[in-house]
Amino acid sequence: MSRAAGRRFERARREMVERLAEQGITEPRVLAALGRVPRHLFIDAALAGQAYEDVRLPLGQGQTISQPWTVARLAELVAVPEGSRVLEIGAGSGYQAAVLAEMGLIVFTVERHAELARTAAARLRDLGYLRATVKHFDGTYGWAAMGPYRAVVVTAAAPEVPGTLLRQLEPGGRLVLPLAQREDEQRLVVVRKLPGDEFEQEEHGPACFVPLIGRFGYERDPADPTIGPRGRGPGAGAR
Ligand code: SAH
Repeated sequence: MSRAAGRRFERARREMVERLAEQGITEPRVLAALGRVPRHLFIDAALAGQAYEDVRLPLGQGQTISQPWTVARLAELVAVPEGSRVLEIGAGSGYQAAVLAEMGLIVFTVERHAELARTAAARLRDLGYLRATVKHFDGTYGWAAMGPYRAVVVTAAAPEVPGTLLRQLEPGGRLVLPLAQREDEQRLVVVRKLPGDEFEQEEHGPACFVPLIGRFGYERDPADPTIGPRGRGPGAGAR
């Protein structure tokens, strides 16, 4: 990339961060992290010109990288101290994981698409995000071996709160996820784990994510017209 192009991306990124601050993202660590991660390197080169606009972009396999505002909002809701271990479900491009790593968190991220998982892992490694580890797996099971976590963030919409993920939280930890309460209505939800295995749930406004597909999520993509009505994973959230 030419130096001029590099400077253009840097300026666009600075402007993106200024807009996010105007739109109500207040946590300095989050804004600083978004100011550092080269989002244009997490998407197809043909789309790089739109990398710093506040839009969601395709990342292959029918999946999307969330718009920067959403990434920032999730990072704010995670809000755990530096050095904490966090689990992300839905690595996608690896961008959200890079933002969390820039915030000083130790990030474990799970992706169900083999190709996306491979690309995200290579990209994070090449960019030097050595505190973000990618695994190819059904993330509705979580990643118990690396837990427990101060926070778990799900970047795909779940039909119900997966009990598997709640169990992998530390006491006082929080699960941040888009919950599809109805087919056409997703809300961002934070579930806190209180002492004595009690949970407290807060809502944080509307959301727009691709579906979480797996054992404790949807059985299959509810938007796929070729496969009939939406299915829920058997026993979703039950254990
Ligand atoms: N956080 C990503 C964007 C996520 S898009 C980024 O920053 O680019 C949602 C991702 O969740 C998709 O890549 C999709 O394949 C993945 N996904 C859906 N269900 C999943 C599951 N059960 N386990 C792991 N990943 C899942």
